[in-house]
Amino acid sequence: MSKVVKTKIEVYDPRMGDLIDSGAVLIQIDSSSQHTEGPVYMPANDSVIWSDVSGNRLLRWRNDSVSVLRTPSCYQNGNALDLEGRLVSCSHGDRAIIRQDHDHQWRTLVNCYQDKQLNSPNDLVVKSDGTIWFTDPPFGLTQPNEGLGGEQEQPGSFVFRFDPATGDIEAVIIEMERPNGLVFSPDERLLYVSDTSAYEDAELYHDIRVYDVVEGRTVTNGRVFTVVDPGQPDGLCVDWQGHIFTSSKDSVQVYTPAGSILGKILVPEICANLTFGGVNRDRLLITAGTSLYAIDLNTQGIQPVSKEIQDGC
Ligand code: MG
Repeated sequence: MSKVVKTKIEVYDPRMGDLIDSGAVLIQIDSSSQHTEGPVYMPANDSVIWSDVSGNRLLRWRNDSVSVLRTPSCYQNGNALDLEGRLVSCSHGDRAIIRQDHDHQWRTLVNCYQDKQLNSPNDLVVKSDGTIWFTDPPFGLTQPNEGLGGEQEQPGSFVFRFDPATGDIEAVIIEMERPNGLVFSPDERLLYVSDTSAYEDAELYHDIRVYDVVEGRTVTNGRVFTVVDPGQPDGLCVDWQGHIFTSSKDSVQVYTPAGSILGKILVPEICANLTFGGVNRDRLLITAGTSLYAIDLNTQGIQPVSKEIQDGC
């Protein structure tokens, strides 16, 4: 059952006050998971779907009750909606991008690149042209209880652009250590990608990079957008004004499009991922530790790209 939990809004810039009330209430919607990830809002029926990665389940919250949509889920992680309102997901266990079609069956869209198995797709975003951009670090191979193990075949951890209409897959970023969360700016001219390699080696990265998108198909000019402390910038989301919301160890951190931190929304568990939801898209949904949380904002996420949202679940 949902309950109010203690939070604090830390303000470093008065512009934070335009985005969230100082007395905003953090609600713990559910705490029955082992490791929550991949929240996605379903506008068709005002529900939220998320992954319990280590619990090997896909869950849904609707009308203040939680149900299990899929178990075992083959260690699904990131989730998103495609242009037809179908759920597309990263599967650590299948080492694939999968989709639940309108007949409710899950199907593999892509599981290899240059004749080698993917590592373990982690997070994804659907661009307005229908292409699926996703990160492919090996955590599903290396971390116990996050996949089925196996040998890494890819020579690195890449960010891919996959076109489900043609089956084409291209590596658009190859130089990052452990790309993880990703999001486009509202105009899709920028791509933000987090690197969580410090999770395995403290000498490596816990930052967010930003790239210029070229002709809607590839990226260039990667540079550091910000370094996130404490912990890792795992999941990312963006509001309609281009503010970047990132997970971290103790909070959701909020940045201007120029990379200045505005403030933090403290969360009592380690944040993994986040998205906008609610009927007005002004509710931030946060997966952290064992839980799904929500907090209302004074800004909105960008509208879903789907013209005709259907509920495939
Ligand atoms: Mg992730």
